Amino acid sequence: MKRMRALLLAGFAMLGAVALFVSRGDANPETVKIVAPGVWFREGDMDLGHCNNIIIEMKDYLIVVDANFPSGAKAAMADAKRISSKPVKYVFDTHHHGDHLYGNPVWTAAGATTLAFAGVAQELKRLEPARWMEAAKSRKDVAELNREGPEAPKQDINESLFVLNDGSRKVEFRHFGWAHTKGDGFVYLPKEQVLCTGDAVVNGAYNATMDANIGNWPTVLAAAGKLKVKTVLPGHGLPGGKELIEGQSQFMTELYKSVKAGVEQGKKLEEIQASVTLPESVWVGKGLKGQVKDAYDELTKK
Ligand SMILES: [Zn+2]
Repeated sequence: MKRMRALLLAGFAMLGAVALFVSRGDANPETVKIVAPGVWFREGDMDLGHCNNIIIEMKDYLIVVDANFPSGAKAAMADAKRISSKPVKYVFDTHHHGDHLYGNPVWTAAGATTLAFAGVAQELKRLEPARWMEAAKSRKDVAELNREGPEAPKQDINESLFVLNDGSRKVEFRHFGWAHTKGDGFVYLPKEQVLCTGDAVVNGAYNATMDANIGNWPTVLAAAGKLKVKTVLPGHGLPGGKELIEGQSQFMTELYKSVKAGVEQGKKLEEIQASVTLPESVWVGKGLKGQVKDAYDELTKK
């Protein structure tokens, strides 16, 4: 976190009044930190189910990375209003999961355009509205929207690269293939060397693998890792450097490798779940049994 602190201090010096709203320290859910001039990281409170958001300032408007759950969308919108008088023009859904996308109607009602890679809409078609209905049972913010299902992104990106460049900043939306989900999107700021990863990279034991391609995940991260990156802003957990991409990739590689070895030895799922041990890292946690099951299903089903 030393680098974050240095950037924060630089942010304080440069941005004066704006810095009033910025907090320091390591874990500060539901607060906004400056990552680079005009780029803010909003740490989502995982107890509320919120993902992280990134707010990017352009000449005349703001871009928000991830819609969040509806309650997270409202909170991120309020923060965006505090840090800038510019309107939110684009909200990029990094993938189809509810904690990143169910807030879409909140943003579009406020005039923003939601966008995502084409795989996001495809996954929504395959999986919804079942998950929305399930979420509405336990989440007031979802139920309150009184909808039959999620709102798909208003714009699909059909190429693997989409660029917004208004002269003040270049923002690249990149798809490297199927890792956490089929429609995984990254947001890359080449000048600032900042990479927003969605849940393709998380900082902690927060990997959800139910819609993943675990075998392909390291390939996607190798492609992302070829970019010049100083700061990684993950979908969950705190920002870090390039080591986050490498660590996440290593976790997926080890997970896949050890489950594959078990399958090849003819072991049952339960046996593999009981025997798998991975090198200790921040990515190994309570979810391991479920991750082993997802890797097992991927390896044994077509
Ligand atoms: Zn996710």
